[in-house]
Amino acid sequence: MSTLERTASATTHEVLNQSRPLEGHNLFETDRPLAEALQREGGDWAIDRARELGELCGRPDVQRLGVVANTNTPVLRTHDRYGHRIDEVEFDSSWHELMDVGISRGLHSLPWTDPQPGAHVARGALFTLLAQVEAGVGCPISMTYSVIPALRKQPELAAEWEPRFLSNAYDFGLRPAADKAGALCGMAMTEKQGGSDVRANLTTARPVNGGGPGAEYEITGHKWFCSAPMCDAFLVLAQADGGISCFLMPRVLADGERNRFHIQRLKDKLGNRSNASSEVEFRGAWAQLVGEEGAGVRTIIEMVNHTRLDCALGAAAGMHAGVAQASWHAAHRTAFGKLLAEQPLMQNVLADLAVEAEAATVSAMRLARAYDEGAAGDEAATLLKRAATPVLKYWTCKRAPWHAVEALECLGGNGYVEESGMPRLFRESPLSSIWEGSGNVQCLDVLRAMVRSPEALDAFLGEVDEASGADARLDAHFAGLRRELGDLEQIEVRARRVVERMALALQGSLLIRFGDEAVADAFCASRLDGDWGGAFGTLPPGTDFERIVERHTPRV
Ligand SMILES: Cc1cc2nc3c(=O)[nH]c(=O)nc-3n(C[C@H](O)[C@H](O)[C@H](O)COP(=O)(O)OP(=O)(O)OC[C@H]3O[C@@H](n4cnc5c(N)ncnc54)[C@H](O)[C@@H]3O)c2cc1C
Repeated sequence: MSTLERTASATTHEVLNQSRPLEGHNLFETDRPLAEALQREGGDWAIDRARELGELCGRPDVQRLGVVANTNTPVLRTHDRYGHRIDEVEFDSSWHELMDVGISRGLHSLPWTDPQPGAHVARGALFTLLAQVEAGVGCPISMTYSVIPALRKQPELAAEWEPRFLSNAYDFGLRPAADKAGALCGMAMTEKQGGSDVRANLTTARPVNGGGPGAEYEITGHKWFCSAPMCDAFLVLAQADGGISCFLMPRVLADGERNRFHIQRLKDKLGNRSNASSEVEFRGAWAQLVGEEGAGVRTIIEMVNHTRLDCALGAAAGMHAGVAQASWHAAHRTAFGKLLAEQPLMQNVLADLAVEAEAATVSAMRLARAYDEGAAGDEAATLLKRAATPVLKYWTCKRAPWHAVEALECLGGNGYVEESGMPRLFRESPLSSIWEGSGNVQCLDVLRAMVRSPEALDAFLGEVDEASGADARLDAHFAGLRRELGDLEQIEVRARRVVERMALALQGSLLIRFGDEAVADAFCASRLDGDWGGAFGTLPPGTDFERIVERHTPRV
């Protein structure tokens, strides 16, 4: 190599003004809104667990597992080498390691095995941390957590299956559940002709010995979406003589024979690629009825409400991850002679993203407390969660993709490149809004709650009212919301507007009472008072940008 060549090569390898990877930090300790919410909402006893998981999730080798699990995606094996059906999905070892991290720490079980006050809150915080390493594992973990209240509708089935689902041992593979150290549960509702409208399900259920709650049925039909198909059992909706009904279907029968549960193919998805989502066919698959025939929706909704809570928590986790990456980058990158984090316009973008993320965390964790209090028999909390779950599922998940794309842009061109992790965050971000009932379905559910249980709306408004008088901007927004709610003219057309206003009122009220002062002020000025633009980064002058950005920038 000539001298000239050596000089040229040395110059091109000089790396200047690049940020360094955000790793080696404690994901819990650097997330101030989450840490504050865990304490405030009754989960302070779980701080050591959150710290431990936060540290683990920040480790570069653990972060790497999320990347690898999305690169080495699951593979379907329909048949063995001799042509026998096996219907197995193979996962990379990174997936199993991440599942083990979540299951061994009870992210699927904690509130049921240790139902003390704050257990759903504590579990919500832990779920939020793992979701920032990789969201895909959150799917089977969330479904296994959520199935418990639905399963309890059939006590003898709950007695048999709960100990399996609540075991903190991750034991992968198709074997009879009774022989395994732990089991996972999925759900199969959606069919080709209708996902939101599950009453259009065509899958049929035929009683084997007369039928009835807990009895055996044979299920025949097709499901268009069935995620995590290597779970040990599924809650399945099918039409019985009495109407749409809920069944518990094991993948492997007690004698070791595989149930007639055939995986047709895996979906090629936008994101969430570490997780397998499949199309499945039941050819007279064996299952047991949970609850009464005809009560399928009522039964499975107990499960769906909990997964909806997780959608809100997961969206908040994604937003926090985006803010952390964006503010970290801006704190290490210089442009036009100054750090990006010191440039007024970048400060506005970062602060606006931080406000959105903090509002999402504070409200999702408050909702988790309603699950704790409701489980303890508090009627007002049960009513609050009835209204607040679809409101927050709708709004938090709707905000996530806009948030992710703006956080990505804070990294400039690097943010568009896979290695930054931002494309994965972005691809994941629309999913929470689709599954477990998409946006419009959530809004219609809020209307249903208003009509069928107006007390739920009262409980919601009562929670917002807790901050009345503290900020004129919230008071004005709240008065406008009450007017909107009092006018039922064309309410279905207006449902998104109304639900958005409800979400903003709740988030504003919570931030005013419990959030950082500067964050609450920026939220009220922009989201409630309308002093805001159509994109992130349009908070009004006078906002305490530095304080908000500082609060949300990870310290390593
Ligand atoms: C990655 C992934 C994994 C999934 N995993 C599972 C799983 O494990 N188990 C499972 O059962 N399902 C699963 N689903 C399915 C998911 O729950 C459905 O896709 C979702 O509920 C929407 O149903 P659909 O796709 O049939 O759309 P549709 O119900 O046809 O809805 C299409 C659009 O119409 C809107 N809409 C529907 N009804 C109305 C109305 N009355 N008024 C106004 N708008 C309306 C919806 O909001 C939506 O925007 C998964 C989906 C995805 C993307």
